[in-house]
Amino acid sequence: MTTTDYQKIIRQTTFALSAPTLKLCPADTGFEVAFAGRSNAGKSSAINTITHQKQLARSSKTPGRTQMINFFDVGCQHSRIVDLPGYGYAQVPEAMKIKWQKELENYLVHRESLTGLILLTDIRHPLKYFDEQMLHWAKDGSLPVHVLLTKADKLKRGAAKTALLQIKKQLQALELPFSIQLFSALNKEGLDELADVLGNWLHLGENLDLTDTDLVSQNIANNELQSSD
Ligand code: GDP
Repeated sequence: MTTTDYQKIIRQTTFALSAPTLKLCPADTGFEVAFAGRSNAGKSSAINTITHQKQLARSSKTPGRTQMINFFDVGCQHSRIVDLPGYGYAQVPEAMKIKWQKELENYLVHRESLTGLILLTDIRHPLKYFDEQMLHWAKDGSLPVHVLLTKADKLKRGAAKTALLQIKKQLQALELPFSIQLFSALNKEGLDELADVLGNWLHLGENLDLTDTDLVSQNIANNELQSSD
C-alpha cells in the first residue's frame, strides 16, 4: 500500500459512536489508533484534515461535551480512529478529572485492539504534566507513540525546527518508542506522514477479508511482538 492508497481509505472514515465510558466502547477486536491531547491542541482539526471532512470530529469548548470517547470507522469496522476526551480544562471538577484519568489509563493500558497513540500538542508549548502521564500509560501498555506538533504554521521554519528538537529531547528522556512530526491543519503540512502512520497501525487495506477470529489472533500476535521489543 502506498501513502496515496492509505489516504484514499482514510477519506472514507465515518462516525461510528460516542461512548461515555469504556464499558460502552465497540468490541475490542480489529485495530484502533487513539488521538489524544490537551483541549485546544488541534485534535478535531487534525482528524477533520486527515479525513478530508469538515465536521467529522467536532471541536467543543464546553467541558461536558468533550467528555466522550468518539469512535470512527476507517474504511471498515475493523479499523478505527478514537478521539479521546481533551484534557487540561481548568474548570472541570476534580472528581470528574480523576474519573477520566482512570478511564484513560485503563483504556491505554488494557485495550487489546489499540495499536498506537497519536499525541497532539501545540508546537508553541512543551509537553505538560498530563501529556507525560499519557505517555507513561502508553509505555505501560507497550504502545508506540506518534507525536503531532500541531499549528506548525504559527512558527517560522527555524523556530519550528528548534521546537521539534526540544520536544524530541523531552520524549527521549521518557525512554519509550516514539516518532514525531510537524503538522498544520491550516496549510495541510504533514498529511503524508500521518497517513503512513495510520495506514501501518490500522493495517489499512490488509484486513478487509479477515474474520473476527483472525483479527483476534492477529492482535495477540501484535501484542506479543510489542512486548518482546
Ligand atoms: P481540539 O480542542 O484539540 O479539538 O482543538 P481544535 O481542533 O478545536 O482547535 C483549537 C483551535 O486551534 C481552533 O481555533 C482551531 O481553528 C485552531 N487550530 C487548529 N489547528 C490549527 C492549525 O493547524 N493552524 C492554526 N493556525 N490554527 C489551528
